[in-house]
Amino acid sequence: MELTTKAGSVIHKLPAGVSPELSQPIQYLKGVGPKRGELFHKLGVRTIKDALYYFPYRYEDRGNIKKIARVSFGSYETVTGTVIRAGNITTPRRRMKLFELTVKDETGSVTGIWFNQPYMSRVFHEGDRVILYGLVKQDQYKHYRPVMENPEYEIIDESGDETIHTGRIVPIYKATAGLAVRQIRSVIKGVVDEFAPKLNDFLPEEMLKKYKVPALSIAVREAHFPEMETDISLLNSKGTRAQKRLIFDEFLLLEMGLMSMRKGRAKAPGRVLNGNGGLRRAFRSRLPFRLTQAQEKVIHEISRDMERPTRMNRLLQGDVGCGKTVVALMAALQAVEAGAQSAIMAPTEILAEQHYLNIKKYLAPLGINVALLTGSVKKKNMEKALRELVEGEAQLAVGTHSLIQEGVVFKDLGLVIVDEQHRFGVMQRAKLSGKACGSGANPPAAPDVLVMTATPIPRTLALTVYGDLDISVIDSVPPGRTPVRTKLFDDSGRAEVYRLLKGELQRGSLGYVVYPLVEESEKSDLKAAKEGAEKLAEIFGEYPVGLLHGRMKPEEKESVMEDFRAGKIRLLVSTTVIEVGLDVQDATVMVIEHAERFGLSQLHQLRGRVGRGGRQSYCILMADRPADNSRERLQAMLKSSSGFDIAEEDLKLRGPGEFFGTKQSGLPEITYGDIIRGYKIIEAARTEASAIIERDPELKFDTGRALSLELKEKWKDRLELIKIS
Ligand code: ADP
Ligand code: MG
Repeated sequence: MELTTKAGSVIHKLPAGVSPELSQPIQYLKGVGPKRGELFHKLGVRTIKDALYYFPYRYEDRGNIKKIARVSFGSYETVTGTVIRAGNITTPRRRMKLFELTVKDETGSVTGIWFNQPYMSRVFHEGDRVILYGLVKQDQYKHYRPVMENPEYEIIDESGDETIHTGRIVPIYKATAGLAVRQIRSVIKGVVDEFAPKLNDFLPEEMLKKYKVPALSIAVREAHFPEMETDISLLNSKGTRAQKRLIFDEFLLLEMGLMSMRKGRAKAPGRVLNGNGGLRRAFRSRLPFRLTQAQEKVIHEISRDMERPTRMNRLLQGDVGCGKTVVALMAALQAVEAGAQSAIMAPTEILAEQHYLNIKKYLAPLGINVALLTGSVKKKNMEKALRELVEGEAQLAVGTHSLIQEGVVFKDLGLVIVDEQHRFGVMQRAKLSGKACGSGANPPAAPDVLVMTATPIPRTLALTVYGDLDISVIDSVPPGRTPVRTKLFDDSGRAEVYRLLKGELQRGSLGYVVYPLVEESEKSDLKAAKEGAEKLAEIFGEYPVGLLHGRMKPEEKESVMEDFRAGKIRLLVSTTVIEVGLDVQDATVMVIEHAERFGLSQLHQLRGRVGRGGRQSYCILMADRPADNSRERLQAMLKSSSGFDIAEEDLKLRGPGEFFGTKQSGLPEITYGDIIRGYKIIEAARTEASAIIERDPELKFDTGRALSLELKEKWKDRLELIKIS
């Protein structure tokens, strides 16, 4: 099935976006060259345009020039004067090599000191007029004398050119080894002067007026080299009109791209999936528990959606352990009642297998045939499953990415369920729901889609990222659960951890010990996990220890999991394969080794493996000397057990790009705007995006054309990919 978005289809016919001048490689610029070019690449700057968009992360006010007699010790100050002495010296006692520069104005003098940079003596000459900026300290020996260590400097030449590094509000760029801020600033100043005026503004005049923001070339210049009188704190919070304009641009392009994706999908005719409720009633009666009110509510929302002739696109959010699986099964059964097939896609083999076993247990007695499709299903079984799906003998397919492979054809796929959505991208979701249905004169309409996630996100964000989805939320967990207690230990606390673990095992509980996946080498993780298992087997002699890892054959994994569930294995040591979805009620301890190496939502998912029964459960984080950012993650884990809090914290710590894995998800990276704090701008961008598409759906008039070029550049081939949705 090939549906092309209206805006999207046009975009591809247009020639490549950037003007050739702006797409020139950075190394061709005077003063850059191949070597520095490489370093610029490291910063993500490849072309002139990239350089224009390489914005400073903060600004310093070096424009407020003080008389030397007025500077205060302990403050950052800017002074200007004439060089009266410049030379290298060696300190008498500690024999350090210094370059000293003494600068004088009509009120006094200050000394700049540079350590181990003898070449500085070639930079300055007596009589030069200079500006210095830096922290003012007292001279070690003559306390009344002000000195500045490694100050920023600028030599003022006769031509009276504007200064770059001092004497103004100065941009501070992220630098890299071998390429200093100062060098970056010089290059960017040149680029901005020459090329910013050549940027093609893609916002219509009226919009600039409406939002009182400057034209693109001015906005870019101002974001790098702000006017003297700009409010420095406003600048540092990205609040100037120029900066707001640039943030707006970024969101506008994001929203426009998303909208053209949505448009394509909205056109897909939906289908009525209406059943007599028989299977659902039978399923309910087999459940060992009553559904919670929160579950009933979302089941109702989903059911009504499926009955409608429009296509369902719904996101089901709910914290780990709140019971999303049964909700998914109720939806699947409704599709089956209506005579259609359902597919459930899970992110890992273990989870797919667990779903499969679980679902089979409940549904086989109802006469429903479930097919399993994962990468490691045996060829013979795979062939059987594929045949059953295309012939309609299997009503339900459970699997991993294997489900979206070519060659998987359904007779009549009515409902697609994606579990743990945060692990998949927009593209994969689109691919599954675009899954071919068997041949026939009238191909059935595209399937309904239900995506589930335990990584909830704030509403404005959800609107943007999942803007095409309706949202259902399970806002409570089943009754009788006790919140998991989370504790942090370093290696010195190991004995205590083992005591706690032993206590739990003695009480009849099960425990997990998880080792992180180090990406560079799957082997070494496995080694750590294996050694861990051996050591634990020694310590906990009387309790059987099992090992689970990604490289085991599916049958082996299954049998280990089964032994664990049955209590034949009491302590399960594993690599991260158990991260999502596993559900073993009797497990009450989760020990996470090297917790500092895990991401926040991963930690939360792992913690969610315990606390599923009524008993008090523990999550033990083992971490040695964590770096600052991992410390923050661990603190967040100690502070809250709510998936909503955790997700928000995670988003803050990692930023949206990484949080959503936009690289895989297919969304362009938001680099300048802040997707959390910038929600007001996002809303404005969304309104304008839809107005533009409404007015000029093919983006062919005036600014529409410029916009479509920009869109194409930003989204690259991603809009093309969307066709399959
Ligand atoms: P998640 O939302 O994380 O996918 P699961 O669907 O795996 O959660 O459910 C977690 C556990 O809670 C499972 O063992 C499931 O059988 C159980 N469960 C689900 N709904 C209820 C309920 N209403 N009452 C009691 N237990 C429930
Ligand atoms: Mg789940």
